[in-house]
Amino acid sequence: MIEQLKAELAEREQAGLKRKRRLLQSPQSAHLVADERRLVSFASNDYLGLANHPDLISALQQATAEAGVGSGASHLITGHHQLHHIAEQSLASFVGLPATLLFSNGYMANMGVVATLLGRNDAIFADKLNHASLNDAAVLARAEVNRYAHQDLAQLEKMLAASNASRKLVIVDAVFSMDGDIAPVPELIALCEKYDAYLLLDDAHGFGVLGSQGRGILSHFNAASPRIIYMATLGKAAGVAGAFVAGDETIIQYLIQSAKTYIYTTASPPALAAALVAAVDVMKKEVGRHQHLRDLIAYFKQNLSLKRWQLMPSCTAIQPIVLGSNEAVLGLSDYLLDRDILVPAIRPPTVPKNTARLRVSLSASHSFDDVKSLIHHLQQAEKALLA
Ligand SMILES: *Cc1c(COP(=O)(O)O)cnc(C)c1O
Repeated sequence: MIEQLKAELAEREQAGLKRKRRLLQSPQSAHLVADERRLVSFASNDYLGLANHPDLISALQQATAEAGVGSGASHLITGHHQLHHIAEQSLASFVGLPATLLFSNGYMANMGVVATLLGRNDAIFADKLNHASLNDAAVLARAEVNRYAHQDLAQLEKMLAASNASRKLVIVDAVFSMDGDIAPVPELIALCEKYDAYLLLDDAHGFGVLGSQGRGILSHFNAASPRIIYMATLGKAAGVAGAFVAGDETIIQYLIQSAKTYIYTTASPPALAAALVAAVDVMKKEVGRHQHLRDLIAYFKQNLSLKRWQLMPSCTAIQPIVLGSNEAVLGLSDYLLDRDILVPAIRPPTVPKNTARLRVSLSASHSFDDVKSLIHHLQQAEKALLA
């Protein structure tokens, strides 16, 4: 086996697909230190700049002093701390849904929901560009999987109409993580109502960013339906770690009884839950953060002028520039790095073949000068690299 793995690793390197881990030597931030270098980073999901916010730090410190570090058990034994309960209530009221359940992370939340609610006689309908965790969740559920072309609702409707599965679940990224575009939630709800399906919305990149005070995709569309199962991660805009599932009370009660990724794992440290409550409070209080992020997104889209490379149609904090080839995108990422700007080159299998891209992600912790400098260097790079 080791010999085979070695050969595969060498192949990857040859194809420009080898991944490297940078050593971060500062807090996550728009201005960070990585591998001993000071960089301006457009490479995190810390969209609101909360990962290093003083209110979250002090909430975590205080809660650690009072509640200790480890939870010591799973939620159903003795790991369910009052701080978890308070965080669940705070998140439910923030997103306007009847009940919520905290998970240790988004990957486990998606596996928990899909594999608990669906089984062999059921069917999943999934956008082809969904996050890996939703794809794995579908495999774990052993349900029939129907994948439709990205955002192709006509194809989705055909699949729904043709299905006579017992339970049907449409699963989508609310904001697509490598494209930045948004799922058309009102149309998806209408299809689910028409064909008696449920809708799992993975709002990993919308929670904290979209909607009033960052309440997420449902607030963005002013959408509501008892058919929605909402999932958001808490390590991105919320700046902490974890995830929650929200929706109908019965669904949440059922997950508590049956979701294996909830039951058979140690509860996350209670102090993280206290930091989450602080994150929600900051989102409500410091609405200027959302406005600043929106202003930066608009500024970037209006002022970046490229001749051959193209921005994708995204109005979110994720602003990818598609180049196509792995070598080209690595060249661009290196060009920027030489100028102390960190933007990741995203390659297959994270994105489909021949769609390698630079994934620019903007954050409320960027200044206009940061974005101006990025625009300048991207335009210079296009001249230099395509010359
Ligand atoms: C990051 C992400 C996840 C996984 O969440 P974690 O809490 O990081 O495990 C799930 N879905 C999407 C769309 C994501 O971007």
